[in-house]
Amino acid sequence: MNSKKYNNIKLAISISETVLLFILTFLFLSSGYSKVLSEWLYTFNQSDYFVLVLFTIITGLAVSIIFFPMNFYSSFILEHKYNLSNQTLLKYFIEGIKSTIVSGLIGIPILLLFYFILKEFGDNWWLVFALAMFFISVILSQLFPVVIFPIFYKVKPIEDEELKERIKTLAIQAGLKVQDVYSFDMSKNTKKANAAFTGLGKTKRIILGDTLLSSYTKDEIETVIAHELGHYKKKHIIKNIIYGTLNSFLIFFVISILYKSTLHWFGFSSITEIAALPLLTLWAMLIGLIQTPIGNMLSRKFEYEADQYAIEATRKPLSFIQTLNKLTDQNLGDREPHPFIEWFFYSHPSIRKRIAAIENFANKTGIAEESHLQEQMI
Ligand SMILES: [Zn+2]
Repeated sequence: MNSKKYNNIKLAISISETVLLFILTFLFLSSGYSKVLSEWLYTFNQSDYFVLVLFTIITGLAVSIIFFPMNFYSSFILEHKYNLSNQTLLKYFIEGIKSTIVSGLIGIPILLLFYFILKEFGDNWWLVFALAMFFISVILSQLFPVVIFPIFYKVKPIEDEELKERIKTLAIQAGLKVQDVYSFDMSKNTKKANAAFTGLGKTKRIILGDTLLSSYTKDEIETVIAHELGHYKKKHIIKNIIYGTLNSFLIFFVISILYKSTLHWFGFSSITEIAALPLLTLWAMLIGLIQTPIGNMLSRKFEYEADQYAIEATRKPLSFIQTLNKLTDQNLGDREPHPFIEWFFYSHPSIRKRIAAIENFANKTGIAEESHLQEQMI
């Protein structure tokens, strides 16, 4: 099956990359090259912050060069091979450069703040940094749809009048303004379709890919919007921030203990040694093995909740199932992933489980939609 192969290759590449990154980081620390690099950087400037930034840029650059072939294969060659991409090679590189600059602009200040906290608060860094990350994630969630997302896509309000009317009815029901639904030019990069609920406070909005608007019926689009409104109605963004914060207190605490007690394995003596910092990522990667499935379990729970809301709000379970089927085909989703893979890696339930849950919910609540087949017969 085409979609199975596509998804398996993607997954195999991403797992290999993670394992390879872990091994390389371990070797970088144990071989002493991490120390060599930081000592060399100190010969240019004695400032810890200067050395930290350059150390991160150099190691980051090395990682992107080593991983370039695998990344390029997965995100460009494979996408074209399965006829999913609209990108030229030039556009691919421009998008890549853009996202590197944006992540640097966001990541480097966070890195400097982290190091400042590490120096000032010593062993209690985890507590202060987790707190700081809470405020940073609130700010980033607010900025995302109005500042960050428009760097990558052109965003504009929905124009179709009939669709706008339908959205208005749904939005009023959910307590959101109709002006909060936008479309973006997803088709410049991909043939896939998607939609999302993003933002926080005044910036909250639904964004729909133009690929969705162009090839789905109004009934189908309505169910997608209702699903996104479900995320809003059930306060999933704020819940994610709260869960993420509680989680980061625990994770940073565990990492701080592991980090401190294993420093001497690699010949380091202080938690503020810049050459020792890659050890933090080693522990973070290991903890990610526990973290990933837990986060995905929560995310899948939210998806089921948003699906239920979509059925209650539109009373169109058949259109919704049709939409999910179409989206799965269009995005080349794996209809029946291995149960372990789904449990570990999937942020959304597999289509089979989603449809089963929708049918179940529609039956239980007695919500039925006139079948299109019946309409045709009449
Ligand atoms: Zn969703």
